[in-house]
Amino acid sequence: MTKKSEILLIYTGGTIGMVKDYKSNALKAFNFDHLYKKIPELKQLDCTIEVISFEIPIDSSNINVKYWVDILEIIEEYYPKKDGFVVLTGSDTMSYTSSAISFMIENLKKPVIFTGSQLPIGDLRTDAKENLITAIQIASARKNNNEAVVTEVGLYFEYKLYRANRTTKINAEQFEAFTSANYPPIAESGVHLKFNSSFLLKSDLNKKTLFRKKLNENIVILKLFPGITKQVVEGVLEIYNLKGVVLETYGSGNAPTEKWFIELLKTAIDKGIYIVDVTQCIGGSVIFGQYETSTALKRIGLINGKNITTESAIAKLMYLLGERIDKSNFKTQFENSLRGEMN
Ligand code: ASP
Repeated sequence: MTKKSEILLIYTGGTIGMVKDYKSNALKAFNFDHLYKKIPELKQLDCTIEVISFEIPIDSSNINVKYWVDILEIIEEYYPKKDGFVVLTGSDTMSYTSSAISFMIENLKKPVIFTGSQLPIGDLRTDAKENLITAIQIASARKNNNEAVVTEVGLYFEYKLYRANRTTKINAEQFEAFTSANYPPIAESGVHLKFNSSFLLKSDLNKKTLFRKKLNENIVILKLFPGITKQVVEGVLEIYNLKGVVLETYGSGNAPTEKWFIELLKTAIDKGIYIVDVTQCIGGSVIFGQYETSTALKRIGLINGKNITTESAIAKLMYLLGERIDKSNFKTQFENSLRGEMN
């Protein structure tokens, strides 16, 4: 008989962990130690679940690099003993956090599935139970040879499992809160739970899993808009100790051709600041040189973010800067897919 999968559930905070106190109508934290009592359906799953909760659960708007390292350290500690991980966070910044964790683990061989919900677990119409139960099921799924089906960081929400570093939160109210416009879902849950095996990331089982904790936060997102002034661009690029910029451009990576704008970017690049061109569009890719409005960006040395999401670009920039990648190598490293985050 094959051994049951052992899953670690990490609760960091967010709506999913809330229950309504019907007397006062206020939301209060759900005690995950009583998981089986509150959600007896979980007993039907063919796995055992251990829970670790943040001592003080946080709204995901308060998440930062320190918390990302906390999540990573829990996964690292339990990695040898557990078969899969489910991480519960608020949905607001889940795409950022799950993207970051995807870069922070190199050669991941076990599933790390993020989920949360739009309605608290104690709400009558909650989406939390389905999200939680299916996320655990995904984290426990094994192939006939007993290897994990998913060997990457995923984000499960409203019947779809996405590659986490491809996702963006697109809706603050609907249960379908996330999208992955540039990569298909890697699994879908209907009557059956179907994995799209050709889209799953293949992991090299011979390579050692590494946990990277050095992230550099000295970066900024600069979103272009018609009318952006020289003072604004200059002010941003002159931030003390700035190391990287995610420049959200128009369409396929286009930006104003005005001299002052290109010169400011060039001066920053010459100073050693990395500038990544990502599109403001939800889907599609930066294509340098498709229009004259991106030719200069390529010439002065911007990094081509291709079809990476802003959330993932932030995480990748922090990660590569933290790893102190050599200047001559940085652009190439960024422009290549490290965890399936771009193509
Ligand atoms: N504000 C909450 C959070 O992100 C929303 C949610 O949990 O979905 O923590």
